[in-house]
Amino acid sequence: MSDLEFAKHLYNEYEDYLERSLTIRRFKHSDILQLINKIKNKDKFKIKKAGLSSQGREIYLISFGAGKTKVFLWSQMHGDEATATMAIFDVLNFLSSQNKHDEIRKEFEQKLTIYFMPMVNPDGAELFQRRNIFGIDINRDALRLQSDEAKLLMKIFKKLKADFGFNLHDQSNQYSAGNSSKPAALSFLAPATDEKRKMTAERNNAAKLIAKLFKLISCFIPGHIAKYSDEFEPRAFGDNFQKLGTSTILIESGGWKDDTEKQFIRRLNFVTLLCAFKSIAEKSYLKEKIQTYDSIPFNQELMRDIVFRNLIYYVDGKKCLVDIAVTLNEINTKDAKNFYYKSVIDDIGDLSTLRGYNDYNFRGLTVEYGKTYRERIFAVEELKDLNFTEMYRNGFTSIVVQNCESREYNQFPINIVKKDCGENEENIKIDSPANLIFRKNNVVKFVVVNGFLFNTEDSLGNIKNGIIL
Ligand SMILES: [Zn+2]
Repeated sequence: MSDLEFAKHLYNEYEDYLERSLTIRRFKHSDILQLINKIKNKDKFKIKKAGLSSQGREIYLISFGAGKTKVFLWSQMHGDEATATMAIFDVLNFLSSQNKHDEIRKEFEQKLTIYFMPMVNPDGAELFQRRNIFGIDINRDALRLQSDEAKLLMKIFKKLKADFGFNLHDQSNQYSAGNSSKPAALSFLAPATDEKRKMTAERNNAAKLIAKLFKLISCFIPGHIAKYSDEFEPRAFGDNFQKLGTSTILIESGGWKDDTEKQFIRRLNFVTLLCAFKSIAEKSYLKEKIQTYDSIPFNQELMRDIVFRNLIYYVDGKKCLVDIAVTLNEINTKDAKNFYYKSVIDDIGDLSTLRGYNDYNFRGLTVEYGKTYRERIFAVEELKDLNFTEMYRNGFTSIVVQNCESREYNQFPINIVKKDCGENEENIKIDSPANLIFRKNNVVKFVVVNGFLFNTEDSLGNIKNGIIL
């Protein structure tokens, strides 16, 4: 089977291998422990306890095959970057299945030994945060090796001396593939080994393998693949592993419209990793040209969650034409198993260089900052009887409420003001909560409440949560 045919099979048959117990990014160490316990019974895999996190959570090394060429993959050294961990369990499902792809599995088994180290930072994952429990970024600890997780990763790396390494991360959804309106769904990099970014033999092979993957995966998401910044970072693992002689490939899972839980990006990871194994086993990457790698556009930070364009904005009676960008920030709930949104104004002015996942041309509409309703003080339980559309039509995006216990967010489609400062007119400022009203001929046509757009004419829109101001 050709590499492309294989890629298409994987892409189309993905559901057969999807690990259905993982559905959202905020799964925990206990969730993957269950999965590891399940595959312990499968003789395809060898499972070893590799070590412990700072808080004593077990980090495992799972291996497959007995071939000469060693491949080492590690994921989630940043605790809130979970996409590849999900994909690894899909890949394990593929490797332990029995079906028409038995031949390729056999080839993997004979030519490769593949080592997986999913969730390198389980303490960070527990809190769904980037850093470990000391607040250390493990990917800046490859030299000093102070964190237990970095020590462990380096120890396993040195023991394996793998031919290929896959450093699996998630990147900001604000990256576009070059100067385009296409989000960088995946970004690759063959990290540099020094400031001069010279091409070593190992880096060359990594770049060629990326060229191969770029061509294959571009068939599914043309224009959506980028290259991560190749600036040398002396403290990062990828750069050091490349220097120590392993052809190292960084894969960053980026953004995709309406894929909040990154399940489509997960599927792309699944296809990418298995295609990489095939190319390594068959050495097909050697036929690729470095120019292909060089031609991959770099990440540019041009994507925003929402951009509203061509708005008329008055301050002190003076008029300006502005665009406004809004960013939807995810804030973890206390148990870090879920999140709410706390959205902010990202930028205002000429934003013609930016692109919105949702991009609205609001020419002819005026914009104002949302107002606070304070004519009567409500109690929280009264809010359920409110006609919110009516509130919005009057320009209100927030409401003063007495005795509101929550300190963070609320389930109503409006923001709650606990301590009223009594200010009526507010200007639109960067980093302030994303609450806006849009009028035409003085009639409110749209509102934005906590970053979510609502059409007041036909009552359409979904405001996922309000916040407490
Ligand atoms: Zn990362």
